[in-house]
Amino acid sequence: MALDFDEDRRAPRGAPRDLVTGAITVASILMFVGIGSQVLAATVRHYFMGGAPVDQPLVVALLLNIALILLGWRRNQALAREVAERAAAEERAQMLAARDPLTGFLNRRSLAEDGAALFARAEKRRKAMALLILDLDHFKTVNDMHGHAVGDSLLRAVAVEIERVLPASALMARLGGDEFACAFLFDAANPDVVERIAERLVSRMAQPFDAEGLRCHISASIGLARSDFDCRSIDALMRAADIAMYAAKKSGRNRFGWFDMSMERELQTRNELESGLRLAIPRQEIVPYFEQQIDIATGELSGFEVLARWEHPSRGLISPDQFIPIAEETGMIAELSLSIMRQAFTAARDWDPSLTVAINISPWQLRDPWLAQKIIKVLTETGFPASRCEIEITESALFDNLSLAQSIVGSLKNQGMRLALDDFGTGYSSLAHLRMLPFDRIKIDKSFVISMTESPDSAAIVHAIARLGESLNLPVTAEGIEDGEIERRLIAAGVSRGQGWHYGKPLSTAGARRMLAERRMLHVAQAEPFRKATSRRRAG
Ligand code: C2E
Ligand code: CA
Ligand code: CA
Repeated sequence: MALDFDEDRRAPRGAPRDLVTGAITVASILMFVGIGSQVLAATVRHYFMGGAPVDQPLVVALLLNIALILLGWRRNQALAREVAERAAAEERAQMLAARDPLTGFLNRRSLAEDGAALFARAEKRRKAMALLILDLDHFKTVNDMHGHAVGDSLLRAVAVEIERVLPASALMARLGGDEFACAFLFDAANPDVVERIAERLVSRMAQPFDAEGLRCHISASIGLARSDFDCRSIDALMRAADIAMYAAKKSGRNRFGWFDMSMERELQTRNELESGLRLAIPRQEIVPYFEQQIDIATGELSGFEVLARWEHPSRGLISPDQFIPIAEETGMIAELSLSIMRQAFTAARDWDPSLTVAINISPWQLRDPWLAQKIIKVLTETGFPASRCEIEITESALFDNLSLAQSIVGSLKNQGMRLALDDFGTGYSSLAHLRMLPFDRIKIDKSFVISMTESPDSAAIVHAIARLGESLNLPVTAEGIEDGEIERRLIAAGVSRGQGWHYGKPLSTAGARRMLAERRMLHVAQAEPFRKATSRRRAG
């Protein structure tokens, strides 16, 4: 836009000046011809024919005329220089506006323009256009750990490699951050060409890069879309490749994948869940369910793990795997989690005081410096004792901001809460993690427990974790106990606590109450006013 403005300004200012200088020069040349010929004739007459000497004013006029021509010429030179400089500056500005200054690739806007032209060319030549979106994995870690200079240098090196792999005629763009896009034409009957390029990019990106003398390890996720499959415009093509790239990330990164329509449907469902979730939390449609935790040696009930469920008015019961990730990505997890806690602690107030309540804390929540205060506030307001509350966190939570996690956990433990390391055995389990935070318990991930009767590897892992707990003096809980045989083997391995479908599926608040009433594990003294309060609410 700045360019157009400049262009507009130059015309009215430059053009008349050009015209005036030109007119003066032409007029002075004409005058020169007129006066010059008079002076020449008078001089010839004077020297060769004895005529009168040349008129003094005429000579002065001639000299003035020559000065005028010189002035006009110099002015013309200066103007020509100015025009050339302006054109060069404009060209540079145009370049800057169209290109990414770091890599020299096209930027998002110019990719849209050039891409639209390529799209039209593909249709004319009966070819297909491929659009490839490449996003680096873990680039943020490099940037955070080594600084922006190293990050920039890495991005430049990545651009060089992309250029090396792609055909010379391809459009290459940096869309921003660590996201790149490439577009090129290919024979619709031969999409292998596109896959080979994507494959080569994925394998090159997984090799180490040298940035400012540092060896950096990254990888890339690539989404592919083609113009002849459901993409009617360059915008649709970009969107499709973007969706495919996110799908590649979700299924484990360091890979490429084509867009397909099921991804579009999945996105639509996700968007519906996301907008529904915003209303569902304040309406308390997200409710706690309670899974029994059993002392497996004695068979006694020791407490419950709180698991979130969405009682959706039209879709029925939705599992947390479907909405917790959305709540995390959209920043709603804190509100959701506190709402679940408030409901669970309220429900558990009149349960037998021997029963514990375990709540799950998302890694995202451990970035909130006020988390401990918020949890303590809910405990105070609901009157539930902190000493009966256990917090479950997964190992992935430990990587983000360890010192903040340590301070949050420190505050919670000071209140008397206990801490369990959830899903142990998956991800990046290591002994070091067990020392990072003051854990009171380890939970073996259900994937090993469920399969331990069939898989010797799973059984070995369960035994190793049980021994580890023993040597560190940390009690171990096994989740995913689906039958008596698994339970028997866990008792033999020395696991103290367990949960799973063998003891029952997670119960609603009413279901848990019913079960506890049957076992005479409700505290009548507190239960009465509580029951009255709830029945009053229901009646109202
Ligand atoms: P998790 O914390 O590992 O929870 C255990 C999951 O295993 C639960 O799934 C439970 O229903 C399931 N499970 C229990 N016993 C068995 C069994 O014998 N066999 C099988 N196949 N599965 C069993 P659920 O409720 O779908 O929860 C999934 C995950 O969602 C949880 O995994 C947890 O990471 C997350 N989640 C649930 N509620 C909350 C919450 O309130 N806040 C947060 N941040 N995350 C939650
Ligand atoms: Ca858990
Ligand atoms: Ca778990």
